[in-house]
Order: sequence, then structure tokens, then C-alpha cells
Amino acid sequence: MGIDLHIHTIFSDGTLSPYETVEMAKEKGIDGLAITDHDEIGGVKEGLEAGEKFGVKVVPGAEFSAKYNEKTLHILGYFVDYENPKLIEFVAQMKEARLSRTIKIIDKLAEQGLYITLADVQENAGIGGIGRPHIATALINKGFIKDAHTAFNLYLGDGKPCHISKSNIGPEVIIQLIKEAKGVPVLAHPNLNKMDVYIPELVEMGMRGVEVWTPSQSQKEVKRYLEIVKKYNLIATGGSDSHGTRPGYPQIGEFSLPYIDMIGELEKEKNLNI
Ligand code: AMP
Ligand code: ZN
Ligand code: FE
Ligand code: FE
Repeated sequence: MGIDLHIHTIFSDGTLSPYETVEMAKEKGIDGLAITDHDEIGGVKEGLEAGEKFGVKVVPGAEFSAKYNEKTLHILGYFVDYENPKLIEFVAQMKEARLSRTIKIIDKLAEQGLYITLADVQENAGIGGIGRPHIATALINKGFIKDAHTAFNLYLGDGKPCHISKSNIGPEVIIQLIKEAKGVPVLAHPNLNKMDVYIPELVEMGMRGVEVWTPSQSQKEVKRYLEIVKKYNLIATGGSDSHGTRPGYPQIGEFSLPYIDMIGELEKEKNLNI
């Protein structure tokens, strides 16, 4: 029995549909998972239906981007009501913001002599909002670079010449949005975004959990975050951050956690919020 509370699908920059994700998870022995697309909830319904079919517990979720003190952070929203009108409106706005940011990034890439079109990106972006991995794929397909890692290191990564921010939305806005949609806000991969010093402030804003087990955090860091979780009475979560079969990320089943009752804890927290 395994659990994985951080998975992307074709509704953002993953490569599998929610149905395929759940089917694959079942095959790999995962019986509890969360669909957490970037700024997107469009895949949740399909995931829940597939969960019923395959006997996998599917948690509705999303991974929202925010900015705090000039730094990007990601906030997972678990058990959000994916029919909440405010959430639906927010997601639509973010999709627009991702599109206009893509156009700006394409202009910046052209300044570097890397010519791709919006159609080149959209071709591999599918139904969800456009993310930087889709832009990286367009650059690879055009033969400008060899892999996504190079694309991020040279051009697309935070602080690199073709980086453009999606938004300047603060974590307090995202946390409120998640709570209004009856969800539980959890700080994703704090070590990856160097968020440690801000955890007390984020808890003040209403953050209720920290992602402890994630491929970017070592055993030592896991220990440190477990102490933080205890200190602030938070929920510890974890997941693979799988993007389906996209290279550079764990495949589904490669980073699953032993079945500990994170889902139960999140559900209890959600019910306090109703
Ligand atoms: P976006 O939503 O457009 O900001 O893109 C976020 C995605 O880009 C996430 O899935 C990250 O895994 C990926 N990403 C961010 N920074 C890097 C990096 N330096 N190298 C590789 N992938 C990255
Ligand atoms: Zn992603
Ligand atoms: Fe993330
Ligand atoms: Fe993620």
C-alpha cells in the first residue's frame, strides 16, 4: 500500500490524463493519491471518477504559485471544492496570466536567437495552463537545446534571462482562496523554494501543513521539517511531484510513501473548516 499526494496531469504540465494517472497508480500499488495540477482544478473530476473505478482514494487538489518577498513558493490545496465559483474564476485568471506570460517569454527567447511560436508551445501544452516545461519541450523539439534542464539553467529558470513571473499574488490570498473553497493549505517542497524562514509567517496566514516527504528533500531535511510540523501543530504530507512520464521527474510509483494516515488528517482538518 502506498500513498502519493503530489501528482501533475495533462491539466498542467504532466503527460498523463487523470484517468491514466489513477490507472497507473493502481498498477504500481498506490491506493491513495492527490491530483495537484499547477493553478488548475480541471482534472479533479476525472480523477475522482477514475478513483471510484479503480478503488483508489483520490484527493481533489491543486498546487498554486505565489510570491513572497520576491521569492516564488508553491501552496498545495487539498480537498478543495472544485466547483467553488471563486476558485473556478481564479483558475481561469491564472490560465490567462500563463498565456500572456508565455507570449512574453517567447519574445525574450527571440532576443536570444531562439525562435519558437505560440503554436509550437500550445502543441504540447494540451488542455491545461501553459507552464515552463511546455516551453522547454518546444525548444527541444525545434532543436535549440537538448533537454529541459538546460532550458531552465540557461533561459527559463528563476532569475535567468528569459524568466517572466506569472503573478505577484501573495500567499495570504492563496491561503484564503483555498480556505474559502473548504480546502486545506499546505506548503509544498519548502526546501526547494528556500521557504524555511517564512514558515512561522505562513502559519500565521493560515497554512495548515508542510510537505515533508518530497524528492527534493533529504532525510536530514525530512527530520527538520517533522520538527517544524510538531512545533506548529501542522499536518505532514508528501508526494512524488510526478509529471507522468515527463523526463526529469519521478515516474508514478517511484516515490510513494508507506500508508500513513495523511489523508485522514487532511480530511479531519477540512471538516473543521466547514
Ligand atoms: P511554471 O508553472 O511555469 O512556473 O513551471 C513550473 C514547473 O517548472 C515545475 O514543474 C517545476 O518542476 C519546473 N521547474 C522550475 N524550475 C526548474 C528548474 N530550475 N529546472 C527544471 N525544472 C524546473
Ligand atoms: Zn510542473
Ligand atoms: Fe511545485
Ligand atoms: Fe508540483
